[in-house]
Amino acid sequence: KKITPKKDKYVIASDSAFAPFEFQDSNNQYTGIDVDLLQRAAKMQGFNIEMKFIGFSAAVQAVENNQADAMIAGMTITDERKNSFDFSTPYFQSGIQLAVKKGNDKIKAYKDLKGKKVGVKVGTASADFIVANQEKYGYTVKQFDTADQLYEAVKVGAVDALMDDYPVIGYAIAQGQDLATPIKREDGGTYGFAVKKGQNPELIEMFNEALAEMKRTGEYDKIVGKYIKDGS
Ligand code: GLN
Repeated sequence: KKITPKKDKYVIASDSAFAPFEFQDSNNQYTGIDVDLLQRAAKMQGFNIEMKFIGFSAAVQAVENNQADAMIAGMTITDERKNSFDFSTPYFQSGIQLAVKKGNDKIKAYKDLKGKKVGVKVGTASADFIVANQEKYGYTVKQFDTADQLYEAVKVGAVDALMDDYPVIGYAIAQGQDLATPIKREDGGTYGFAVKKGQNPELIEMFNEALAEMKRTGEYDKIVGKYIKDGS
């Protein structure tokens, strides 16, 4: 089914670095699963997009303040976010996990984080989890604006661990980053394409139509498989 766009162009906000969902390739061009899925959806349904890779919490704010029509940023669909956003059909199953520097064998459970520093990215599901469990486990929390800063902090020992979505940690490890994941991931969390609650409903409809079609034809698996090899 083809839906008629209501705007000549839709501004879509995204994260600045969230590989393999959005990241800059060697030519500084943004690429990734989110970018490919949305570009294909736009082509299939015949709407125009302008993507702005401004960072995760900046994207959330841009949609809330009507500076962007929608966002795609590996955004977890949560009940709290449903108060201010409408989401597409879930397009990716995810979850969060703790990561430490490879070779650090002192952290095997959350309780081993007592007195340690844990890093997260501002405004994320991981940040919510880490802040919510701070008293229970007795660590301190450091919040970073970007993934680059967060992963660098673990590398140089400015934090003892980080928490992030496991496909993102898995991709970083596959790319050769010296990280280990000693604790089982926290289940739950699917990603959705999001608009401000009550706004641009046709955009969600167009994305859902295109997503269903891409799943049906196998194009969805092809796009994901381009970036994620056998589950990592
Ligand atoms: N999935 C996480 C969230 O929605 C992180 C998203 C991101 O960092 N781009 O909070």
